[in-house]
Amino acid sequence: MLLGIVYAVVSVMLGWQRFTADFIAPFGTIFMNLLKLIAVPLVLFSIISGIAGLGSPESLGRLGLKTLAIYLGTTVLAVSLGLLIVNLIKPGESRDSALMLENRIRYELWKKQSGAEDLDDICLTCKPEYAELTAQVSSRMNGTENQDLVASKIEKAKQTQNQGPLAFLVDMVPDNIFTSLNDSKLMIQVIFFGIFFGIALLYIPGERQQVLIDFFQAITDVFLKMVDFVMRVSPFFVFALMAGTISQIAGDDVSKVLPVFRSLGSYTLAVVAGLVIMAFVIYPAIIHFFAPGIRFSEFLKAISPAQLLAFSSSSSAATLPVTIECMEENMKVPKKYTSFVLPIGATVNMDGTSLYQAVAVVFLAQMHGVELSLAQQLTIVLTATLASIGAAAVPSAGLIMLIIVLTSVHLNPAWIAIILPIDRILDMCRTVVNVTGDAMVCTLVAKSESQTETA
Ligand code: ASP
Repeated sequence: MLLGIVYAVVSVMLGWQRFTADFIAPFGTIFMNLLKLIAVPLVLFSIISGIAGLGSPESLGRLGLKTLAIYLGTTVLAVSLGLLIVNLIKPGESRDSALMLENRIRYELWKKQSGAEDLDDICLTCKPEYAELTAQVSSRMNGTENQDLVASKIEKAKQTQNQGPLAFLVDMVPDNIFTSLNDSKLMIQVIFFGIFFGIALLYIPGERQQVLIDFFQAITDVFLKMVDFVMRVSPFFVFALMAGTISQIAGDDVSKVLPVFRSLGSYTLAVVAGLVIMAFVIYPAIIHFFAPGIRFSEFLKAISPAQLLAFSSSSSAATLPVTIECMEENMKVPKKYTSFVLPIGATVNMDGTSLYQAVAVVFLAQMHGVELSLAQQLTIVLTATLASIGAAAVPSAGLIMLIIVLTSVHLNPAWIAIILPIDRILDMCRTVVNVTGDAMVCTLVAKSESQTETA
């Protein structure tokens, strides 16, 4: 991975972008394709065999409730930590009061023109010209010209914000499982189908049930073997992935990246500080108190391949096969827990994403001289939690869902354009925490279930 980053920087300096794009980056794409190829069927079959392996609907109920409760708890903790840090560091406050005033005026103008009295009003009246204006200001600020990218993100975000509050429930239930299998963004539907199928399987009598359980178990093993094969060549693939991604971010001039870092530096610092505290203070503390006997350093070592992959792919979904393998092989967590807890975690539990959303919203408000009340900050806790549950486990999903958090506290959703230039790098970092959080909860659940079983 490091070699990939070094190569990317040197190659951009030497003007080799074309060579990198033509001959190195494709291997990164092949790697991602292979992982995605395995991820969807693996989720389906492992959930079915996991549920069937639990033996009874009662143990499923207990495991399910426990898993969801812990996932929710860690997410709320992550958002609160994000809020605490951003309120302490105040990365959005600038010494340039003229700039802050200008920002504030733009915001007031937007509010007035959009008649933004309540949430619905904001959703309906996010006028394209304001989105464009904000995009222009941000690209001027950051010295980048990625207008098309900004426009496409805003377009996607607008589609998201026009959905109703229960949209996430509706989205969970597929009307055609083959359509869901076709798109890795619809993983939640595959999970729903897998759980439904697995529960039905638990009610099939005797011998026929056993035949099916053996079948799904064997097919899950085949997919895990495929992960094993891919991971054997992963160092080379990860090099290609990193080289391709970084050289794409850098564009044609590495020095262009620096001003972006400078203008968004303290924001980046706040997000990264939060993620580091989550991963290296909060998680070890949780393990220490709730799963005594497990050493955090061993846990970290066991899941490091999944973390590296999360960093280089920015996708919890693509990383999932490796997370499962790490937990089973290195942490010796029984299959019946990994196959249930991890796929659900990859889609609904995103501690890194929810923390980042809290920091981003308050940062953007600070930048525009807008004070957020306690009630508004509590709203952020609620919406960032929901938004991270709703975010797909793919690159940039958290940025798109940020729109919901921004509108919930009456801020301009088009502001996502401001943080866009740095988002890919933060996405890499938050995905690492997302994956670490899933693995930690899996360890916790397995530990407490084994205690229940022996009791
Ligand atoms: N890329 C993240 C993930 O897959 C989601 C996000 O954009 O925050 O976990």
